[in-house]
Amino acid sequence: MIVAGGGPVGTFLAFCLAEHGIKTILLESASSCETDMRASTFHPPTLKYLDQLGLAEELINQGLKAPIFQYRIRATGEVLEFNLADLNDKLDFPFRLQCEQHKFSRMLAEKLVNHRNATVLFNHELIDFKQDNESVFVTIRHLGNIKKLNCLFLVGADGANSAVRKILGLGFDGFTYKEKFLTLSTEYNVAKHFENLSFVNYVSDPRHWFVLLKAPSAWRILVPVDEKIEDDFILSDSYIASVFEKVLKGNKRVDTVHRTIYRVHQRVVNKMTHGRILLAGDSAHLNNPLGGFGMNGGLHDAWNLAEKLKEILSSSAKIELLDRYDRQRRTIMNDFIQAQTIRNKRMIEESGDKHQESEWERMRKIHGDDEERKKYMLNQSMEQSLIKERSIR
Ligand SMILES: Cc1cc2nc3c(=O)[nH]c(=O)nc-3n(C[C@H](O)[C@H](O)[C@H](O)COP(=O)(O)OP(=O)(O)OC[C@H]3O[C@@H](n4cnc5c(N)ncnc54)[C@H](O)[C@@H]3O)c2cc1C
Repeated sequence: MIVAGGGPVGTFLAFCLAEHGIKTILLESASSCETDMRASTFHPPTLKYLDQLGLAEELINQGLKAPIFQYRIRATGEVLEFNLADLNDKLDFPFRLQCEQHKFSRMLAEKLVNHRNATVLFNHELIDFKQDNESVFVTIRHLGNIKKLNCLFLVGADGANSAVRKILGLGFDGFTYKEKFLTLSTEYNVAKHFENLSFVNYVSDPRHWFVLLKAPSAWRILVPVDEKIEDDFILSDSYIASVFEKVLKGNKRVDTVHRTIYRVHQRVVNKMTHGRILLAGDSAHLNNPLGGFGMNGGLHDAWNLAEKLKEILSSSAKIELLDRYDRQRRTIMNDFIQAQTIRNKRMIEESGDKHQESEWERMRKIHGDDEERKKYMLNQSMEQSLIKERSIR
């Protein structure tokens, strides 16, 4: 097996395959796993998968447990609080784990380096491949030299700009949000500017909405920025100061440890399996970060795919089983992850005014009803998406 891409999805998939006894080569074009600040939330069912591989405790020790998430209306201060501890009887891990994604990839890459079924090749970029009925022939660039490898299956876990997806010439339907997203990380204790702030907060406002998340190393702030503003200006001290002024409601000068601008997309590839070439993670689907579903969805792809490859490679199933992987994961992407993230964004852009059609009005009703609130949390924790996945044949 060859897995292209050493992000969270590629490293996790390679680890699952190696643990299933499948010889796996992980290719990563960079010289080590990336350390950028992107995902920082691991949802309860992801932790359960990690636990089955003996990985959960080590990751939990590097993160923060966040059982509570809050929706806030900026103008009025109204707070709707959801506590995953209410689902103690349904979830083995009734909390979100706040932990930087690069800690996860690096932890797995280190384990893979010492794994008897795995080979990790940094500075190895997949540049082309061909397949026939029995094998895949992969071309790789390594420090200016071209190498060739072959394998039974190739998985593109090579991120949003996936070379594997592009070489296959696949459609990647959906849309790109007009605004840019700016994420800032700071060691400054922003919590002291809010009453009773939890580790995960979505603050709603038609123009100045923001997300505040606590990761072990920093508070992370995500805000939308007008697409017409130049990146250099967005990253300037004066612009960043204006963001903190709005978020913290005061002209506080705050030092940052990371500043990053992203374009955000809602897209799903039109098929995740192409003979012996497969896609997983951001190479196959992208969504906005409101809810923390992107990386988790990719990790759920990896788990599902590894189980099916194990069956196929041990000859207890035919290659057609991969069609079920495509059906299951694309249904979850379209019906759950795309739908829910679009809805989450709509809600955070609302003023919270009381009018019947609003997402906030819907949310107040859900919050006020014990059963509905638990159902909602099962959805937002991604548990429900995996129950649905298993029902798809
Ligand atoms: C601001 C922001 C916040 C986010 N927050 C969350 C969150 O809280 N929770 C969540 O679940 N998700 C979140 N996400 C999404 C999450 O970061 C991604 O879904 C996740 O990184 C996808 O992992 P991946 O392994 O598929 O791709 P990537 O992390 O992009 O990794 C791909 C890897 O492939 C390598 N590569 C690329 N091309 C090649 C090649 N040709 N050959 C070999 N290697 C190659 C790259 O160097 C990279 O290391 C967030 C995203 C953003 C932008």
